[in-house]
Amino acid sequence: MQRVNDIFSTPIEFLKGVGPKRSELLSKELDIKVFKDLLYHFPFRYVDRTGFYKIKDINIEGLTVQLKVKIVEKQLIKGRNRRNRLEVLAKDESGFINLLWFQGVKWMDSFLEEEKEYIIFGKVGFNYGKKNIVHPEIELYNNENLARNVALTPVYSSTEKLNSKGLNSRNISKLTYNLLTKLKDEPIQETFPEYILSKFQLIPLKQALFQIHFPKNETELEKASKRLKFEELFFMQLRLLYSKKQRKAKIKGYVFETVGKYFNKFYSENLPFELTGAQKRVIKEIRNDIRSGIQMNRLLQGDVGSGKTIVALMTILIAIDNGFQACIMAPTEILAQQHYNSIENLVKGLGLNIAFLSGSVKGKKRNSILNALESGDINILIGTHALIEPWVRFANLGMVIIDEQHRFGVKQRAKLWMKGKKYPPHVLVMTATPIPRTLAMTVFGDLDVSKIDELPPGRKEIKTYHLYDNKRPALIKFMKEQIALGRQIYVVFPLIEESEKLDLQNLQDGYERLLEQFPRPDYQMSIVHGKMKPADKDYEMNRFKEGKTQILVGTTVIEVGVDVPNATVMIIENANRFGLSQLHQLRGRVGRGAESSYCFLMTDYKLSKEAKTRINTMVMTNDGFEIANVDMKIRGPGDIEGLRQSGLLELQLASLIHDENILTAARMICQKVLEEDPELELSKNIRLKKYVVKNKHLFRSWGRIS
Ligand code: ADP
Ligand code: MG
Repeated sequence: MQRVNDIFSTPIEFLKGVGPKRSELLSKELDIKVFKDLLYHFPFRYVDRTGFYKIKDINIEGLTVQLKVKIVEKQLIKGRNRRNRLEVLAKDESGFINLLWFQGVKWMDSFLEEEKEYIIFGKVGFNYGKKNIVHPEIELYNNENLARNVALTPVYSSTEKLNSKGLNSRNISKLTYNLLTKLKDEPIQETFPEYILSKFQLIPLKQALFQIHFPKNETELEKASKRLKFEELFFMQLRLLYSKKQRKAKIKGYVFETVGKYFNKFYSENLPFELTGAQKRVIKEIRNDIRSGIQMNRLLQGDVGSGKTIVALMTILIAIDNGFQACIMAPTEILAQQHYNSIENLVKGLGLNIAFLSGSVKGKKRNSILNALESGDINILIGTHALIEPWVRFANLGMVIIDEQHRFGVKQRAKLWMKGKKYPPHVLVMTATPIPRTLAMTVFGDLDVSKIDELPPGRKEIKTYHLYDNKRPALIKFMKEQIALGRQIYVVFPLIEESEKLDLQNLQDGYERLLEQFPRPDYQMSIVHGKMKPADKDYEMNRFKEGKTQILVGTTVIEVGVDVPNATVMIIENANRFGLSQLHQLRGRVGRGAESSYCFLMTDYKLSKEAKTRINTMVMTNDGFEIANVDMKIRGPGDIEGLRQSGLLELQLASLIHDENILTAARMICQKVLEEDPELELSKNIRLKKYVVKNKHLFRSWGRIS
């Protein structure tokens, strides 16, 4: 055992072929410091070099081939300006081929010997009917090189700097080969118990490590990759589940036993509709958490319009019933303002004190809010990330609601925790961008997850169409019909910071074009964008809300912040410029009333492949979860804030998206193991215990994050 560790942690400098200079480079560029780092520097793809071509069989120009050749003759040809070239005639038993070098000529000239055999690899060209390869990869034909090259050949990531110093993929593969030769007779500690290995038909770790670098064929590669992916995902899950359990065991929370007058009065007098089954279920789940004596950390997932706000509010009312304050934090000022307005509206008559705080609330007003908060006069504080500032102090904060989880990081969550007194407040994070199941259980493996998987009754599917510009006249006609029926319409233009000026111009132009089609006084239009003064914006928005204008033209500021059931048409200009989840959010602005609703995605003819996928997805489905899945596949999971900070992206081989099956299997067995043996004390789990002990630091940091 000891010896194994020793050899793994041997400085890379001492590997044959490395030395001090290269070791410094490897460390700087690839963070490869010891043997183990190189061993775990896996190839990112493989080139199939399992066989040799015959020269006479090469008929297609541009074919990449591997040949076994003998050098017939070579000629160093001096050119002008010291531009020499090396021309080599080589042959196999079937024919001849020319090999050409324009760089590294001198070295190659001395390396190549006539009558000797070589393995070469490269792209074939034809010159007046003669076959040639320029700058082929070349190795002596011997046993070692055969083993290393005539296989699926690994391709390693390198860097420009390493390449320029000769440490390209091929040379890294040589070093890896040296390392594996050295490790051949060393025992490599197996990490999984036998019963897990056999249950999932996993090959031993040592074999997998060898085969991932130099697989002889596809089957070997697949087995190695399955085993190592399983390993990554299993131990990730072990960390998550283990620390989740630790947290549960340790972190106490306020007990909210009472459901009292605020909740009950709201329920019987204020609640404007019947709760959906899903909303009721989630509220129950939350109630169970907050009276358990353990701090709640719950993620609430629900598609746009599924009614998360009411759930949050009723949760807050329980906190207030138990004598505590609550806050809601939203990622943007508009969203925070929207929450403030709608909640103030909903709790009318309950006698609650609600305040709004953001960076734009200043001076006296700000001070009086902060004072009232500290004295306990404010029941609910709603605002932006201004809430996490240290001078925002509560008398007794018991409940924190965070909207749009993925835009806040774990650190910010932690700051809100600190604002509790005796215990940290209960936390409910809401996300409107549904996260695929696999990701949710991984990224938020430390959170409990509730899902509102049911829309309020009466919601109709929003009919979605993709239109090119030539359909505009028909669209205008349709808009007029809808307006004649008394409906309202959104027209959204993209606006991003990098092209803000141009985008605003586009918006303005679009607005003016519409004015021609919808002239006053028969029609009224509003225009809103982020550059307007808040007061002007509110004025325009309100005109639309009150039905005084029929068309609202704007940028994505209307993504959140308006709830107009009478609006039935959403037109998205340059729809190809929006991300999928943004399109879904925008579309969610319509379809809130009883009438049929429509969404039109306008683009010109030229579309990237990804844009096409996004638009087709929108046309095909209204299901936020399905959309999120596609989105994740297009973008990769890197855009999810929690994920980047969690370090989960450090997965080398496994993909949270593409390896869903392995992930699910790994998670299931992991759960089972911990259920049966929470502290990993059974002798059959001794290898797992060893892993935990060896990686204590990982487990600790996870505990803190959650
Ligand atoms: P989101 O989950 O996107 O935050 P909201 O909480 O803003 O959704 O709710 C969307 C709309 O649906 C609001 O107008 C809200 O009043 C309404 N709503 C919520 N729950 C119900 C329900 N059970 N029945 C009818 N309408 C509801
Ligand atoms: Mg919402």
